[in-house]
Amino acid sequence: MSAVGVILPGATLGVLGGGQLGRMFTLAARTLGYRVLVLDPDPNSPAGSVADVHLRADYTDPHALARMGAECAAVTTEWENVPASTLDALAAHCPVRPSAAAVAVARDRIREKTFVRDLGLATAPFFAIRREDDLDAAVSGLRLPALLKTATLGYDGKGQLPVDNLEHAHAAFAQLGERPCVLEEKVKLAQELSVVLARGADGDIAVYPVGENVHRNGILHTTRVPGCIAAGVAELAIGMARRVAEALDYVGVLAVEFFFTTDGELLINEKAPRPHNSGHYTLDACATSQIEQQVRALCGLPLGSTRLLSPVTMLNLLGDVWGDSQPDWQQVFAHAEAKLHLYGKHHARPGRKMGHINVLSENADASYELATELFAQLSRRY
Ligand code: AMP
Repeated sequence: MSAVGVILPGATLGVLGGGQLGRMFTLAARTLGYRVLVLDPDPNSPAGSVADVHLRADYTDPHALARMGAECAAVTTEWENVPASTLDALAAHCPVRPSAAAVAVARDRIREKTFVRDLGLATAPFFAIRREDDLDAAVSGLRLPALLKTATLGYDGKGQLPVDNLEHAHAAFAQLGERPCVLEEKVKLAQELSVVLARGADGDIAVYPVGENVHRNGILHTTRVPGCIAAGVAELAIGMARRVAEALDYVGVLAVEFFFTTDGELLINEKAPRPHNSGHYTLDACATSQIEQQVRALCGLPLGSTRLLSPVTMLNLLGDVWGDSQPDWQQVFAHAEAKLHLYGKHHARPGRKMGHINVLSENADASYELATELFAQLSRRY
């Protein structure tokens, strides 16, 4: 007999968004025996091509949402920018996890940072900028340089500009379209870390080992696990991420990104209400991947083990590596413990996430060295 509220294989699950995260969700759910319906307007979406049903419609299309609500036992999202009205409409028919309210907090940097600060957790000092008049007080209240970031639709360093003085602040606000923003102190980074966790419908939390992240041009480049993290810092980060999950009464996979400053402060940068790029190492290096965990949490199943099976470095593959042709994948396959993941995207563009490689090894240093070597080889042009 199944537990109350548990959704078992054979049922249909819905995912909003057909990018790489939707594709990973679809593949993991189908492996477990679920049917998957993907909603994404793009006919070539990476997830649509591997789903049982690809609804090619806008995220607000009432017919598509009615069909999704009628066919799906539960729905999740691969990105936080799905309109709140979409999540609300679906929630009238089936469980939507994470909830519209939890997604809303991650969608808007002003809400997100205020939420974290109100919990008593540290962020980089910031001011909400809703109109131009807010800039004067913000510039005099912060130590410059700072970054002006749009409150919504900014990611991977997009929608943000450096600010060195009041004049820059006004110019940057105009350049960003006078949209609501946060002005945030540029902190001195010793390290960037992330915690990926899952919280089940019963409130149980399973936390993955903390990843040490390296970004290039604002985009994640590598995640190394175990990272070289100062004593006590990983535990502190995990404790902060758990606080966030509990305060949101969160159900699903949650990623929290941290700055560890040269002054020894641990600050929350942002969170993602879904599996995260910095958790892709779990696909090959953990007993349960973050994606399987997303399926488990969505379906009300017990969470799987997050045990690390091997030290690992995840190397992101951006469109830059393609140039005008496919990279030479034989360089990757030549290494018995390098695991290639390609997302099935048709066009490579600079900065576009096309895939990743998980490099396993006996120790994290060796995996990091091989990942660095592979990156250099794949980027080399003859
Ligand atoms: P974000 O899109 O806000 O996650 O920013 C992308 C990357 O830019 C981060 O991972 C950091 O490497 C860098 N960054 C963003 N905000 C700050 C900040 N306040 N101080 C220093 N570096 C930052």
